[in-house]
Amino acid sequence: MAEKPPSNSFDLKRRQLLKFAGATAAVGGLGLHALPASAEGTARVRDSDDGVLDVAIIGAGMAGLTAARDLHNAGCQSFVVLEARNRVGGRVLNHDLGGGQISEAGGQWIGPGQTAVADLARELQIDTFPTYYQGKTVVLGGEGRLEVDLHGTFGTDERIGAKLSELSKVVPSGAPWTSSRVAELDKLSVGEWLARQGIKPEDRSGWDTSLTLTGGVPPARMGLLHFLSMINSASCDYMKLDSIKDSAQGTRFVGGSQLLCTRMAEALGDKLRLACPVREIADWDREVVRLVTDQGEVRARRVIVAIHPALCNQVRFQPALPEGRAALQRAWPAHSPARKTAMVYKRPFWRDKGLNGHTVEVKGQVLWAWDNSPPNGEIGVINAFIVNAMVPSEPAAAQRVLAQIYARSLGDEALNPIGYHDHDWGQADPWSITCVSAIPPGFWSQHGESLRPACGNLIWSGTETAEIWAGYMDGAVRSGHQGALQALASLRQA
Ligand SMILES: Cc1cc2nc3c(=O)[nH]c(=O)nc-3n(C[C@H](O)[C@H](O)[C@H](O)COP(=O)(O)OP(=O)(O)OC[C@H]3O[C@@H](n4cnc5c(N)ncnc54)[C@H](O)[C@@H]3O)c2cc1C
Repeated sequence: MAEKPPSNSFDLKRRQLLKFAGATAAVGGLGLHALPASAEGTARVRDSDDGVLDVAIIGAGMAGLTAARDLHNAGCQSFVVLEARNRVGGRVLNHDLGGGQISEAGGQWIGPGQTAVADLARELQIDTFPTYYQGKTVVLGGEGRLEVDLHGTFGTDERIGAKLSELSKVVPSGAPWTSSRVAELDKLSVGEWLARQGIKPEDRSGWDTSLTLTGGVPPARMGLLHFLSMINSASCDYMKLDSIKDSAQGTRFVGGSQLLCTRMAEALGDKLRLACPVREIADWDREVVRLVTDQGEVRARRVIVAIHPALCNQVRFQPALPEGRAALQRAWPAHSPARKTAMVYKRPFWRDKGLNGHTVEVKGQVLWAWDNSPPNGEIGVINAFIVNAMVPSEPAAAQRVLAQIYARSLGDEALNPIGYHDHDWGQADPWSITCVSAIPPGFWSQHGESLRPACGNLIWSGTETAEIWAGYMDGAVRSGHQGALQALASLRQA
């Protein structure tokens, strides 16, 4: 039996980490390649007298920082993290609301089964609290307004959810292209499959909303095989993926999700280089890889590429990558238009009225708004995913439009916000062009095999490569662990 990893191991010692690494690899706990029997030697890092580092990590998102933390804990000192932006966190970002309060502009929730990110938070001494969902959700449609108690769900039909859960059992989350039913399932979009289920038109909007939130695109553009692989990650239980209570949207971090990244970064000192985009990766097929960055050249024996596959298209590879990998990067969907807003009030006034602060607008500007207030409700915050094309791009104008909508759903108090914040991930900068990956039908059959195999000394990491919870923060953490282990194991072999 594998020894249980220490749960409160903020100062995890090198020996413990390596032992844990070996054990988890052996039992497949993280879906990792097994380490050599004595992993101890991997921590004996070479000095970089020749100016060549053992490992360079590209990207200081949750994946890259987890990899860096693992290398550090394993005793490896010869590494660097190269981050394009002048901040860490990537797709997680705390927006400062003032007065010590924050609102998350990027990834924010975790849920059952997301044990890697939960363990990391525990080790970093970051607490969690439940998402607020008690009370009624308001559905707005045309002139109509309806209050419904969805009991912590998105209101999708349980019968259809159960069918999806059953189907997901044949679609392994880590390799959907190996499903025994791949030919049949990868032909269809989720929209096409739903159209065959006899769902009443009035019940279809709940599905459209929840799937657009989960996948970043309407069901017609999301592959059924991919969606089933996501449900497979959630213990083959659709409700654990696409709901609030006891689901992937059920839990938040006190202090916001970016705190995990800033805490990890604090320990890195000058091993972290910000504002240092990698423009070119040369000689990846040789012993020493050369990275051309805005701050000069970095040379390393192994490179952990902890960035989104579509963002790899912004990097020049010399020589060109193998065609399979290059084709996967070219075909990977990008530019998912995720715009997240935060409206701030003195207090969460809607709670007094039995409302949970959640609003769904059928075919309207607000895809989904929810109560994103801090744990004790000291202030009231309504966050929303909005339909970008229907809301003014200028923040002050967007604030006015949204305040009117919230006034209809929550009451006139909503007309007097004390703050507003808006983050459009497709526009903010070129380093997170997409939020979650809306994988279309046919993609995995064609490109799946090229997702993970290393190319020369390049190790692919980032949430998209995770064996479970790919696309989520939990997947990012898992992929970071995996990237560090792969790098250490292959250095040792060399
Ligand atoms: C609006 C939104 C909502 C989300 N909601 C949730 C949620 O509630 N729960 C959840 O689990 N997940 C959610 N996610 C997804 C989650 O945030 C991501 O899965 C996770 O943060 C990805 O981490 P990563 O390290 O793999 O990648 P990233 O966070 O993308 O990190 C990659 C890093 O690489 C850097 N980089 C890119 N190119 C280069 C280059 N050439 N050179 C150097 N650096 C480079 C980027 O700047 C970035 O910092 C959400 C994401 C968004 C945007």
